[in-house]
Amino acid sequence: MKKTLSLILASSIGLMSLFGCAVPSGTGAAAGQGANAQAAEGSEGAKGSGEVLVMATNAEFPPYEFYDGNTIVGIDAEIAQAIAEDMGMTLKIEDMAFDSVIASVQTGKADIGVAGLTVTEDRLQNVNFSDSYADSSQMIIVAEGSEVDEPDDLEGRTIGVQLGTTGDIYAEDIEDATIERYNKGMEAIQALSQGKIDAVIIDREPAKVFVSQNTGIRMLDEEFTVEEYAIAVAKDNEELLTKINKSIASLKSSGKLQEIVDKYITAE
Ligand code: GLN
Repeated sequence: MKKTLSLILASSIGLMSLFGCAVPSGTGAAAGQGANAQAAEGSEGAKGSGEVLVMATNAEFPPYEFYDGNTIVGIDAEIAQAIAEDMGMTLKIEDMAFDSVIASVQTGKADIGVAGLTVTEDRLQNVNFSDSYADSSQMIIVAEGSEVDEPDDLEGRTIGVQLGTTGDIYAEDIEDATIERYNKGMEAIQALSQGKIDAVIIDREPAKVFVSQNTGIRMLDEEFTVEEYAIAVAKDNEELLTKINKSIASLKSSGKLQEIVDKYITAE
């Protein structure tokens, strides 16, 4: 019940920002939250570059999507670029708030949502998902020396999450927990470092990046959830979904997908 409610809320906030409340691009006031668009690097002159494939993302999620200067890079950006090339299309990346990504695919503002998007039953009510291209999990980050040592210790604690993510949705099941929602995962990490919250629940690879960039925090070993990432496509666009699945299959069999992952994630 609770979960459904939060999803309805999340998607209506998403729609609000699509229809009128979006921050204009170029204000610099809300980097990563406005309507920044980027034509993919090297896409000029790509074969069949006439047709544009618009990708919705939230570039606050290293190593999947993040800014390198003014360019959005990362595993998702490169996978989408490879898929676009395979389909003879030109990729255009639109950066927006995470909780607008699904809504923008649903309303046709974007063709695909590629944002480390976890496949969930609730999201499947609104969009279709491609075959999975990565597995993930929600992990727990705490301050060094915290008494929180495993998921069960989260009971009654104050937990930071990124608004509208699966971390947000599943944190609601923790008994007596207070949930603090942030627009960016990094903001939750900052609140943790400042002692404002007891833990952050966030996806595994971004968790590793954030822990490596900040002193005094650590990631617990035990996974909070196990998830799979896939590309979101509008329900009425079966043709695109079929093409994307074909491209994903060929990226997997050619080893290109693994090559992209290895560029951003060093094996332990
Ligand atoms: N995997 C999480 C989700 O789909 C978080 C994704 C993100 O923050 N970009 O909700």
